[in-house]
Amino acid sequence: MYVLLILIAVIAIVLGVPDIRRSLISRPAFAFFKRVLPPLSATERDAMEAGDVWWDGELFSGKPDWNRLLRTTNPKFSADEQAFIDNQLETLLAMIDDFDIVMQQRDLPPEIWDYLKKEGFFAMIIGKEFGGLAFSAAANSHIVGRIATRSLSVAVSVMVPNSLGPGELLTHYGTDEQKNYWLPRLANGDAVPCFALTGPEAGSDAGSIPDHGVICKGEHEGNEVLGIKLNWDKRYITLAPVADVLGLAFKLDDPDEHLGRGKHLGITCALIPTSHPGVKTGDRHFPLAQAFMNGTTYGKDVFIPLDWIIGGQDYAGKGWRMLVECLSAGRGISLPALATASGHVAQRMTGAYAYVRHQFGLPIGKFEGVQAAMGRIGGLNYSVESMRRLTVAALCEGQSPSVVTAMTKYHMTEMGRTIGNDALDIHAGKGIQMGPRNYLASNYMGVPISITVEGANILTRNLMIFGQGATRCHPYVMKEMAAAGNPDEEAGLREFDQLLIKHIGFAAGNTLSAFWHGLTGARFADSPVSGETARYYQHLSRMSRGLALSADVAMLTLGGDLKRKEMISARLGDVLSHLYIASAVLKRFEDDGRQQADLPFVRYSLEHHLHQIGVAFDGFLQNFPQRIMAGLLRVLIFPFGIHYKAPADIHAQSISDAMMIPDATRDRHTFLCYWRDDENDVTGHMELAFQKMFKLQDVYKRLRKAQKKGQIGADLNGDALADAALQAEVIDQSTAAELRHCERLRMSAIAVDSFASEDVKDGKFKALD
Ligand SMILES: Cc1cc2nc3c(=O)[nH]c(=O)nc-3n(C[C@H](O)[C@H](O)[C@H](O)COP(=O)(O)OP(=O)(O)OC[C@H]3O[C@@H](n4cnc5c(N)ncnc54)[C@H](O)[C@@H]3O)c2cc1C
Repeated sequence: MYVLLILIAVIAIVLGVPDIRRSLISRPAFAFFKRVLPPLSATERDAMEAGDVWWDGELFSGKPDWNRLLRTTNPKFSADEQAFIDNQLETLLAMIDDFDIVMQQRDLPPEIWDYLKKEGFFAMIIGKEFGGLAFSAAANSHIVGRIATRSLSVAVSVMVPNSLGPGELLTHYGTDEQKNYWLPRLANGDAVPCFALTGPEAGSDAGSIPDHGVICKGEHEGNEVLGIKLNWDKRYITLAPVADVLGLAFKLDDPDEHLGRGKHLGITCALIPTSHPGVKTGDRHFPLAQAFMNGTTYGKDVFIPLDWIIGGQDYAGKGWRMLVECLSAGRGISLPALATASGHVAQRMTGAYAYVRHQFGLPIGKFEGVQAAMGRIGGLNYSVESMRRLTVAALCEGQSPSVVTAMTKYHMTEMGRTIGNDALDIHAGKGIQMGPRNYLASNYMGVPISITVEGANILTRNLMIFGQGATRCHPYVMKEMAAAGNPDEEAGLREFDQLLIKHIGFAAGNTLSAFWHGLTGARFADSPVSGETARYYQHLSRMSRGLALSADVAMLTLGGDLKRKEMISARLGDVLSHLYIASAVLKRFEDDGRQQADLPFVRYSLEHHLHQIGVAFDGFLQNFPQRIMAGLLRVLIFPFGIHYKAPADIHAQSISDAMMIPDATRDRHTFLCYWRDDENDVTGHMELAFQKMFKLQDVYKRLRKAQKKGQIGADLNGDALADAALQAEVIDQSTAAELRHCERLRMSAIAVDSFASEDVKDGKFKALD
């Protein structure tokens, strides 16, 4: 007892008396911290400092304030946005024939290009004062997503001008002259933009672009002016083949110091009309057989005036900062919208097909193996839509959360890939045979595009989410890094000392709390709600403590090495990401008014994310190089082991049953999916067959009984089935008429397209009747 009291007194003196604390703890810790601090390049520092910390910071703190999450406003469309969605968007959707676009034209037809330009689809992020639509992130996401349910190629063509590129950069940094000249032209579609960063030598490591400009005198429009002689070689650039204006990123040097800011200014962004002498565009790539414009641009010794730098001379060398500052908004909207679109189509159409398609005498959706895949589709689609909404809500609040958007981009595209695979597996041959009736193939083939662009996924998971997240979201590490970087060493030490005492308190709190929640199964953790979802909040709070503790231990013990230990850090990033997705699911459940019909989806989704958190922690602890620390963490966070199980089969079965009922729940979960009340429409033919068969389910039961009794032939279908049933008086005349119609729809729903052999050879693909 005495020993314990003496120990507490010593700790209190050491921590409580500033001079003693500074010399015994803070100074050595300061020296250690400076030593282990990861070496950061200027581009990495810019990336790390860009953007805001939002709900991710709460999750990282170990003590998320759930009420703050639930208070976040769920964005609503303005009257203008709703009118556009109801009118222009619907008109566009009715014009789209994706098979024709992808397989025949390999381009959008001229009337679609014209309509997109005329109606402002390329101007959703441009201010009204310049003729743009000034739509919110929520409307932008909805519009791009709904288009993607019809055509990935059209959606990508719309999404790019509304994401990171000339419009966004001009709005934030352009001079008045640049804005007044370019923004109205971008808004009315006179100038189609593209933005070129990537080249053969610089993909993920975009900061290392070799494209190069030198400030010098040259001739422009007959006058000698100060400008830039540029050389570039870019590839993969979306819209480049049809662009009128090229946003170009390059490294700028000023060897004669015309600007008086040194010889090497750094990455710079300029806007160059593609008609300018020496600018080469037009060559096309063919990205996974999609028809959106994507290609190369290059130029040799092209001279441009200095005032083509976005933002003018003052922004020479600030291009990287501009790009990372603007990256978040587009990254949180565009690709997530595409992933959601695949989810909505997959859930709606797979449910329909699983009901319509019979094998072994049953709808395939009644087989447990198929139900497992349908459960994944419905459960993950609930997560995808929830994540889309939460991230868009943050953007609508004016946040620019860089870690949140990186998590959103990565996990939504990965979940989209899983959903797409399951949908295709269930459709089997129907999903594989391409043609005007195939609503899955194009999006399925496009998935790797979403995985690759705006930060390829492996890089995003391994470097960006935790690499940025750990320092950005941690309540003290960024500030400690700033203190360590203070050129006035003593002032830095004083700041560090203040931070360290708080950091020690933070770590001690997390250690005790993680252990307590581990011992009690989080039964005493906070939940802002009661009822079915309360326990999930408690488990997530517990895992948030575990993350905060593990992140501190990893940073303390591995220091700068943690950046290179991607397999370790990515798993902590996974924990953060699944905490974020699970919170999004809980918030959506509340926002939607706690729909009881959604509970199987909510449970599936939350159990999946908790399970993934367990898997990530297990992998982290199994592979953490400091074995004693790993053992200690395991005891503290999981004293009785890791017990988060994969979603129960019963949820998958309830989900697959729900997917095969044409009701309001199905509509709510798949509202983005466009289908037309037309038996020849790509999605309409399946939807109508499903609705009709569901309506006639009692008739089909009667027919099956009659078949078993031998009253009508077991192998009959179509008109022959209706005739036989009528003759055997199993159905009456009017039901027979309905059955004939339904059978025609059913046969069409299970049919696939075929083509004349020579047409396939010639690439004409005119579907045979
Ligand atoms: C269809 C399409 C459209 C595009 N549109 C544009 C556009 O409009 N403008 C533009 O500028 N660019 C565009 N891009 C380029 C896109 O952003 C790049 O493809 C992307 O940055 C990846 O570069 P890369 O393909 O060269 O892959 P690489 O950089 O060669 O990467 C290869 C693999 O290594 C991984 N990797 C790399 N470094 C690390 C690391 N440190 N840790 C872990 N993994 C790592 C990556 O994740 C990837 O899986 C487009 C690309 C495509 C395919």
